[in-house]
Amino acid sequence: MIDSDIKFIRQLFDLSQGLLKEIESYASDNFIPIIKPEVAKFLETIIKIKQPENILEIGTAVGYSSIVMLLAHENCKILTIEKNMDMAEIAKENFLKASLLDRVELIKGDALDVLPCLNKKYDLIFIDAAKGHYKEFFDESLRLLSDRGILICDNILYKGYVAAEKHVKHKRRTIVYRMRDFILYVLNKTGISTSIIPIGDGLSISVKE
Ligand code: SAH
Ligand code: MG
Repeated sequence: MIDSDIKFIRQLFDLSQGLLKEIESYASDNFIPIIKPEVAKFLETIIKIKQPENILEIGTAVGYSSIVMLLAHENCKILTIEKNMDMAEIAKENFLKASLLDRVELIKGDALDVLPCLNKKYDLIFIDAAKGHYKEFFDESLRLLSDRGILICDNILYKGYVAAEKHVKHKRRTIVYRMRDFILYVLNKTGISTSIIPIGDGLSISVKE
């Protein structure tokens, strides 16, 4: 997609108000990488189609994407995992402000430790945490995904570096190479069907067959 397309689409969906708008400003001022407006809208649409009962999210940050998902469907609950304690505290305050605390379980911990302890099934899983560990998150998520469940990963095109042919700077090389491997891994995985969607920072969406 070209930049003007992205700009055009983004301003169409940049309609949030109230608490979500407040969180967007907070995130922007504090360099917290929350989902982009067009990704928020995409998640909202998928949730309205899927009507999941239970959602699992890896990477809460300050709760923005959790709130977007919860507001899209009134009968769903979310289990969200965040390893940064300060972020998790702010997320909790935001869930309280949004009157959504009763539909959220927030686990403060590293998803690499938490995921292997989970056993319930989830109808929709959103992976949006450390890019270097997507394969581990993905494998655990597949185990926890219900039949016909949906698994969405954010940031898989990582600011255009993953698709770029030009030389990758040393500091980003590991992440970029891992993300390329991850994309091939996901596309070749049996038992799921996956699409790559170049909105926001790049999404993958998989359905368990
Ligand atoms: N989903 C959020 C943004 C998440 S940003 C939104 O769109 O609103 C990514 C978050 O993942 C950061 O807050 C980071 O602390 C957290 N994170 C990174 N690695 C993690 C891990 N292994 N376990 C849990 N959280 C992790
Ligand atoms: Mg993200």
